[in-house]
Amino acid sequence: MNIAIMGAMPEEIAPLLEKVGAYKTEEFAGNKYYTATYAGHDLVIAYSKIGKVFSTLTATTMLQHFGAEVLLFSGVAGAINPNLKIGNLIAATKLAQHDLDITAFGHPYGFVPEGKVFVEADANLISKAKEVASQMGLELMEGIIATGDQFVADKARNEWIGKTFGADALEMEGASVACVCDAMNVPFFILRAISDAADMDASFSFDEFLESSAIESANFIIKMVEKLG
Ligand code: SAH
Repeated sequence: MNIAIMGAMPEEIAPLLEKVGAYKTEEFAGNKYYTATYAGHDLVIAYSKIGKVFSTLTATTMLQHFGAEVLLFSGVAGAINPNLKIGNLIAATKLAQHDLDITAFGHPYGFVPEGKVFVEADANLISKAKEVASQMGLELMEGIIATGDQFVADKARNEWIGKTFGADALEMEGASVACVCDAMNVPFFILRAISDAADMDASFSFDEFLESSAIESANFIIKMVEKLG
């Protein structure tokens, strides 16, 4: 299978590149894409740069230019659900854009005409992830992820996003990647390891735990690749 694995930042894909061994590098539209074979699959790996716009560009490129048939996202996120602690893993069941707002016209937050508030991740990939988690002896939370072009370091904003979308975690790329895959009918899976609690200490916590949480997520994603038929 031709599998795309993406992150937003170099730290999120570095552990993946370490695992796959030899790879080729190709530049496209201002980003680098790394291709390799691993566990019988063709992989294309890249980090997009942070945010919804860059992640849309990278996801689209991976599907359209590199012909990926499935997309896995590996990265870090801020926690909303207090049960999610630093390093814990969450797989998105569905994703929404928390900063998409045309409520002035009577629409709900996260909605534009002909769009939808929530994009659902692939159920088969989630059930594969559950098998991987039990094999690895890891706990994997399933939940709603909210995405926006903001680093949230504010308890009130965190709580608002939690209340408005029922979200368990927040980040800056998942929902845009989900929109691309949904529109192109490509199954996708968004995994995040918690780096911070999206509160006033978030930037310090993020700096401290980015690397270790990115490794947690990447290790899990590699095991998923090994499991994909
Ligand atoms: N430290 C970086 C900026 C990181 S932005 C720099 O200075 O270059 C945060 C990244 O991690 C995004 O890719 C986002 O998806 C994720 N993330 C982790 N915690 C987050 C939070 N509290 N709010 C929003 N995104 C968060």
